[in-house]
Amino acid sequence: MSTQLEAGTLWRKLVDRTESAIACGALQRIETEHETLRQGGLPFVVRVATNLKRKAEERRERAQTDPTGGREFNPFLPPEAELTVAEISDSHLALLNKFNVVERHLLIVTRAFEHQERLLTQADFEALWLCLREYPSLGFYNGGAAAGASQKHKHLQLVPLPLYPGQGGFPLEDLYTSTPPWEGIQRLKPLPFPHAWSRLPVGLDQDPTEAAAHSLALYRRMLNETGIRMLTGTDGERQAAPYNLLMTQEWMLLVPRSREFSHGISVNALGYVGSLFVKDEQGLETLRHLGPMQLLRDVSVARILPRRSP
Ligand code: AMP
Repeated sequence: MSTQLEAGTLWRKLVDRTESAIACGALQRIETEHETLRQGGLPFVVRVATNLKRKAEERRERAQTDPTGGREFNPFLPPEAELTVAEISDSHLALLNKFNVVERHLLIVTRAFEHQERLLTQADFEALWLCLREYPSLGFYNGGAAAGASQKHKHLQLVPLPLYPGQGGFPLEDLYTSTPPWEGIQRLKPLPFPHAWSRLPVGLDQDPTEAAAHSLALYRRMLNETGIRMLTGTDGERQAAPYNLLMTQEWMLLVPRSREFSHGISVNALGYVGSLFVKDEQGLETLRHLGPMQLLRDVSVARILPRRSP
């Protein structure tokens, strides 16, 4: 019999698991304070870590006990039982992000090893939709180390909305909800770097298999339109370049990346909904001078490369 998450059960499992994981010390929350910065009339919320010690300590301990210095350690195979939230499908599990900045941050990981640079599949999108339709949330994917991925094992991510309690869904929400109602791939003028954005049809959440097929086809068109080639290898298809993918039940965004950092600040997919993270006050100061949109521009690509003729 195949496994599928029972509809309407994920939030409860997530809340219960979070509570037990905090109680036993498996979950190691990164404490932050936040501040809003604006550029070009758009709001960005910057989280500033107030204590990053625990994650660094764990890395140091791992480096001492592991002969590879921690480089080959895979935290998702096997996952920590105390962090495991649910079996989503035959191919995917949901875990708590061990070092969470955002409350109730889920990782949707493949049960068997697959590289993070492999292209997303029908099974990946189906697992994402089974979770995405459970509560207001944002799904995202850091496609490669230069797009912010710290782990090689394939993992999608899901954070509940609103991202900041008491505020709208996420800082750049107005930008993504005030677009024309048509469903084609669009470029949003306020974003000064190559990207592909599209509204999704209403009601996709009714059928995760159909929703996944629709999202998969759109994702492949977006890769194509932003110049990211799909390479065929012996172990399946791979991305030719790094990118971030973000989606809610209403829209999908794909942004090609050039690098992880600018001015010492690491950016992952959440940057493109206006949510940034810095390690300390100095990072915040750097960002005040640089401007958050300039940071996104720096780590995105300058232009879409023309496709080489075969
Ligand atoms: P990313 O850095 O975007 O690739 O996401 C991977 C996430 O995995 C990071 O945010 C880490 O906090 C998280 N992580 C690291 N070790 C573990 C672990 N043992 N269990 C669950 N999550 C982990």
